[in-house]
Amino acid sequence: MALSGIQIYKLLPQTNCKECGFPTCLAFSMKLAAKQVELSACPYVSEASKKQLAESSAPPVRLITLKANGAEIKAGNEVCMFRHEKTFYNKPGLFIRVKASDPDLAAKVTKADAYKVNYVGMDFTVDGFAVEADGDLTAAVKAIRAVSKRPLILISTDAAALDSALGLLAGEQTLIYAADSSNYEALADTAKKHKAALVVKGDSLDALADLTPKVQAKGVEDMVLDLGGKNLGEWLTRSTQARRLALKSNFKPLGYPTIFFAAQNGVEKEAVYAAQAISKYAGFVILDTFAPEMIYPLLVLRENIYTDPQKPIQVTPGIYEINSPKPESPVLITTNFSITYFSVANEVEGSGLPAWLVVTDAEGMSVLTAWAAGKFDAERIAKAVKGFDVASKVSKKRIVLPGHVAVLSGELEEELSDWEIRVGPREAVDLPAFMKQALN
Ligand code: SF4
Repeated sequence: MALSGIQIYKLLPQTNCKECGFPTCLAFSMKLAAKQVELSACPYVSEASKKQLAESSAPPVRLITLKANGAEIKAGNEVCMFRHEKTFYNKPGLFIRVKASDPDLAAKVTKADAYKVNYVGMDFTVDGFAVEADGDLTAAVKAIRAVSKRPLILISTDAAALDSALGLLAGEQTLIYAADSSNYEALADTAKKHKAALVVKGDSLDALADLTPKVQAKGVEDMVLDLGGKNLGEWLTRSTQARRLALKSNFKPLGYPTIFFAAQNGVEKEAVYAAQAISKYAGFVILDTFAPEMIYPLLVLRENIYTDPQKPIQVTPGIYEINSPKPESPVLITTNFSITYFSVANEVEGSGLPAWLVVTDAEGMSVLTAWAAGKFDAERIAKAVKGFDVASKVSKKRIVLPGHVAVLSGELEEELSDWEIRVGPREAVDLPAFMKQALN
């Protein structure tokens, strides 16, 4: 049974030393009760109290880490049902399913492994490979390891084949798929021997809740749930119920991340199935299709869902050079909200026109939002222009303000009296035409 904030408080040192980052032990205990902090943030909890607090401090959804020599992916450790309540922490891993019997296995893995796409300054890739043992699993793992260092999921119920393949992956953290009521003892032994995580599979949540304690009793703590379900609706219901039980009722038998096979009802709807799984709590999503046009929107969706809604994605304020600007090139002004920055930078870059882009610190807000919040005004812009010593880079002191904040031009002229202030277009897409027509 989870402890209340007051019950937790009674087990803390009550010295209010603030080392945990909270002003009092009571404030820390309230956060701990809400699963929003880790007990380890307080260095002074006694061993006896730690024991009593273990259940309260354990995350309601266990953290599972898959790792290889080149990468790792974490799932679980989530604390809320809805992203706006706080944030979702660990993005579901996107794994590409490959077959051990495939003669083109190495080539397919090489291609997917090399996939990299940049989205607002972040590099996106696939996270790993799920290897189906419809042939020699050990040979397949050997072939994959020759071309990829990403984490693996091994799909087999043959304990001997798994044992042999896992022998090649010493030092890695791999996931085995999957144990059910008929084979869990042998697979749990294999998982324990190789310190691998184990997927537990059941026809219903009741069946899963019955099986996970048995696997745990065999010495395997790291589990992932395959919720089953015949269709999208059934899976969504189970996924939501499992999450709710884990979070709201601290129901440990279902307190594990989940795995979802997006092509379970055919590849035609794979992207839709994967999108739902990403949106509603999957820890690992397995794709049969590797196609950049499908992977990219899924990666963007994942990024948007797992971005902290209270912290906008930002770029570092500074002066950015676009298309090798010269001293006579124009100086454009924008804010440090990533999407705003990349909208402006991409339009100018695509036009081939050189420019200096001054990114001001607007606390990660877009132009209009920052202006309305008082975070993007003449004073801040002038401070950025002076602070980044823009004057030393240009021969023509000419600044282009975003059209949405034309109202700032008068004040900016006062702040930067030796600069010419021009009002640019409202939309980034119109910048190239403006630069060609109005800045010559
Ligand atoms: S670090 Fe521990 S003792 Fe200090 S204020 Fe936080 S909870 Fe209290």
